Amino acid sequence: MLNLESEVRKLEDNGIDMLHFDVMDGIFVNNISYGLPILEQVNKITDMTLDVHLMIIDPLRYVKRFAEAGADIISFHTESESDISETIKAIKAGGAKAALAIKPATPAEAVYDYLSELSMVLVMTVEPGFGGQSFMPEMMDKVRAIRRRIDELGLDIRVEVDGGINDVTGIEASGCGADVLVSGSYLFKAENMAEAAGKLRNA
Ligand code: ZN
Repeated sequence: MLNLESEVRKLEDNGIDMLHFDVMDGIFVNNISYGLPILEQVNKITDMTLDVHLMIIDPLRYVKRFAEAGADIISFHTESESDISETIKAIKAGGAKAALAIKPATPAEAVYDYLSELSMVLVMTVEPGFGGQSFMPEMMDKVRAIRRRIDELGLDIRVEVDGGINDVTGIEASGCGADVLVSGSYLFKAENMAEAAGKLRNA
């Protein structure tokens, strides 16, 4: 965190497409991460797509401000306490793209009613809250079901997987229809980030 600008440059220099920004409020998940001021600062120094994942209990209260702070895409959870349709509307009114996220215990069907209003669906492949956890392969049925539903409806919606993604699990998720792979530990611990990113891109 104390070298955030140089870390962002590293992502840019190594061909990363989007910056995934995990916001935690200490209530929806146990951990507390960062919020609006950090996003604002990051937005000032990069043109990367800012993909903001809100792991917070009341996203409706904050989405407008995250959009103003520079979020290009905002994901919030079906398991939050905010009204889903209202929150999607508020994200779009703020000028960002709306995405709906589901935790491992939540079935694929939870997002079906909202697909036509969404740009992306985020399937958590670990329990949200902490980095460095192991990928849950049993989530792949869910990714497949959501991708099938999107295709049946003829919609242009991305499916993002978040948690435990590396060169092996990335290929697995991609084969099930995911087209946005979130990766933290795998990229940052790689000896050659560009090469590691290339493996995900070709997954
Ligand atoms: Zn995330």
